[in-house]
Amino acid sequence: MEKVTPLRQQYIGIKRKYPETIVFFRLGDFYETFDDDAKLVASELEIVLTAREMGKGKRVPMAGIPHHAVDNYLARLIGKGHKVAICEQLTPPGKGLVERDVVRVVTPGTVVEPNLLDGKANNYLASVVMGDGWAGIAYVDITTSEFFTTQLQCQYLSSELERLHPSEIIVPRNVDSVNSIHIATLTSVDAGCFDLDEATRVILEHFGATTLEGYGCAHLPLATRAAGAILSYLAETQKGVVGQLNRLTTYSTDDFMVLDAQTRRNLELFQRGRQETSAGSLLSVLDMTKTSMGGRLLKNWLGLPLLNVEELSRRQDVVEGFYGDGITRGNVVALLGQVADLERLINRVRGSRVTPKELKALCRSLEVVPRISDVLESVACGTVLRSKLDPCDDVVGLILQAISDDPPAALENGGVVREGFSPELDQLRSASKNAKKYLAELEQRERARSGIKSLKVGYNRVFGYYIEVSKANMAQVPPDYVRKQTLTGAERFFTPELKEQESMILNAQERSVELESAIFRQVCQQVGAMAERILVVAGALAQLDVFCSLAEAAVRHNYTRPNLTTQETLSISGGRHPVVEVSLGGKGFVPNDTYLSNDDAQIIVLTGPNMAGKSTYLRQVAIITLMAQIGSFVSADSATIGVVDRIFTRIGAQEDLAAGQSTFMVEMVETANILNNATSRSLIILDEIGRGTSTYDGLSIAHAVVEYIHNHPRLGAKTLFATHYHELVELADYLPRVRNFNVAVAEEKGGVVFLRKIIPGGADRSYGIHVGQLAGLPKPVVQRAQEVLFNLEDSNHPRVKWVGEDQRSIGSEALRSQLPLFGQRPKVLDELLRLDVDSLTPLEAINKLYELQRGADEESNTLGL
Ligand code: ADP
Repeated sequence: MEKVTPLRQQYIGIKRKYPETIVFFRLGDFYETFDDDAKLVASELEIVLTAREMGKGKRVPMAGIPHHAVDNYLARLIGKGHKVAICEQLTPPGKGLVERDVVRVVTPGTVVEPNLLDGKANNYLASVVMGDGWAGIAYVDITTSEFFTTQLQCQYLSSELERLHPSEIIVPRNVDSVNSIHIATLTSVDAGCFDLDEATRVILEHFGATTLEGYGCAHLPLATRAAGAILSYLAETQKGVVGQLNRLTTYSTDDFMVLDAQTRRNLELFQRGRQETSAGSLLSVLDMTKTSMGGRLLKNWLGLPLLNVEELSRRQDVVEGFYGDGITRGNVVALLGQVADLERLINRVRGSRVTPKELKALCRSLEVVPRISDVLESVACGTVLRSKLDPCDDVVGLILQAISDDPPAALENGGVVREGFSPELDQLRSASKNAKKYLAELEQRERARSGIKSLKVGYNRVFGYYIEVSKANMAQVPPDYVRKQTLTGAERFFTPELKEQESMILNAQERSVELESAIFRQVCQQVGAMAERILVVAGALAQLDVFCSLAEAAVRHNYTRPNLTTQETLSISGGRHPVVEVSLGGKGFVPNDTYLSNDDAQIIVLTGPNMAGKSTYLRQVAIITLMAQIGSFVSADSATIGVVDRIFTRIGAQEDLAAGQSTFMVEMVETANILNNATSRSLIILDEIGRGTSTYDGLSIAHAVVEYIHNHPRLGAKTLFATHYHELVELADYLPRVRNFNVAVAEEKGGVVFLRKIIPGGADRSYGIHVGQLAGLPKPVVQRAQEVLFNLEDSNHPRVKWVGEDQRSIGSEALRSQLPLFGQRPKVLDELLRLDVDSLTPLEAINKLYELQRGADEESNTLGL
């Protein structure tokens, strides 16, 4: 065996227990990392990699960070998906080896440091287990103590995970089925934690219960297994935290509208495009919340639209109350602005992580509660919430009595406990104050006694209090002075009296800091014991914040209360896209109407040129429906919304090349998902289908899809279908529930002006060339395209027929018959037709385009085109 130092041995022993985790090993004022951890940390954090001698001739790589800056470095490592085990010194440094152990493993799903968290978003740790086509998902936010579990069919797993957006998911080790999860950092844990008996035992033991009935998961084995596994994982990695989870709620996804991942993205509910922030999303338009708790709740509501009309009406009533009473709303909002994140604060109290300053912030927030209650007294909409606003007088009273007005952030320097709270502490404080006063007067007294005018009383950390006399005055030093330290120009002394006062001060200080810490801990414990009550208040404040925010948004953007029904109709008058409207500065957005009904106008085929406003219109209908189903007012003059169970969206030819599938394949997968899962209560938004393939393939698929939605007995879903294939208007001829609409354009001087108005009837042409012109295509190209189009249209281009005909051959024939127009068939065209578009990467496609363009240029010169 190698000869290594005891410290090294200690490290190796600890590291062995945390093989997949970076170990932050506390050494004095630093957290050190060693070996491969050190190399990783040095490169990830861009800090210096050094080495340390840890045995005879054994130097090991080492990289360290100062302990006071740990949060910042942790944030960066966790952000990169690493896990960090914090290994602390458990005994004070002295003789021999200091005891050390890991006190916490920080993983993306279990951070608690405020600066590692986004205030307005939950940070979820989830666990997933699958079996027989079903999945169990449990999740916790350890900063707020939310703990939920559910069981659902595997096909809904990814949309539920997308909704939760956990930062870490724990899964059973060595189980293949979970490999399909790509959403967050995956942590594999011992599969035994997911065992039903073990999970049941862990849950019952945790809650001190004898049956799972009260938690709603008694008959849901997968939900139970997922919840039990989370508890086991937390017990192992977050020793202090797991006890804070004192509620487990089983929920059912059947109570909510299902929003799959692409629908959230397509409707830009939380993010715009691939942006990280919420700017430009629906959330950003609706979120006027004042507290982080309200911000998080609104986000949750937006991800979980409801299906229950009564519950929605209750929400609407409250929003309406605040909508109609600007004065009360203003007062409530101003008061909410003074409320801190009570949910997270009370959890920090329970986790013994709260600072004196934070405890005071909690108290100040609670002090606002009765004032909010008073304001709500005058409004009917506030009654229910008001009943939950327990002023928690006892908590406030205790903190006010015990904690000083402006306590420091840290306990170490004292000044936390208010005078008068503890007689013992007051005594210590006055003893130390008296001694300080005595020392302040000592200088004068000793100068007088010794006759040395330059005599000084001072203090330093190593030698304590001293009397300093310069060398020149040595002769006058009184005989009771004892020498303490010699400097170049002076000597330092103490007297027995000074020594006594000094130890009084130091003892008193030390003891009072100890006492203050003990008092603070005790106060925290008492406050922590009332956490459940405080969480109820916090929940009510969060709701109040959301209601006021929705009311404020409604007033600011001119929204109206929609009429909610269980009928299968959707009727919107003067509807607007809430985000596009804002981006246009609230002016210039052209409102449009919508009427859809399962037994009458079931499918709208919306034609019109690109850029006319089709996508905007489609999304606006979906978003208005969604807003209605969270209880919000909607961006329309009036609306009647028949509650929908799912919104499906298939939008545009998206650049999902990153996922490795061709655009067309993605499009077809999404379309298949819609056709297989929609019900008569769903709302389907199809924005272009079949664009990723040849015109005739695309037309045929689009045609068949609409027929299927129209005719299939299970479907019959309300559908909006936008297409630039104006040929599709023919569907209305023989499908009775299809209606044609188009986006109006006006032709002016050979160009087009988009009117953004949706009008009945189909578009008779595509205006593609006009759009090309608007986009800046060179004039000769536009002119030539017009000539070609004219010739194509003029040559009795056969109408597309649908039943029993080979459209591809008709189409290609039609195209071929036009080719002589070009005189000689250009080579670039041959090349273009030969291209296998689906197999090209975007970069190859761009290069190919350049190449073709160059070829075309040369060719047009030789052909004199
Ligand atoms: P299409 O789907 O037909 O190609 P879009 O819906 O993408 O067209 O709309 C193109 C642009 O037109 C949008 O970016 C938006 O700024 C504007 N627009 C769309 N609808 C309206 C409207 N109703 N009022 C005002 N501007 C609109």
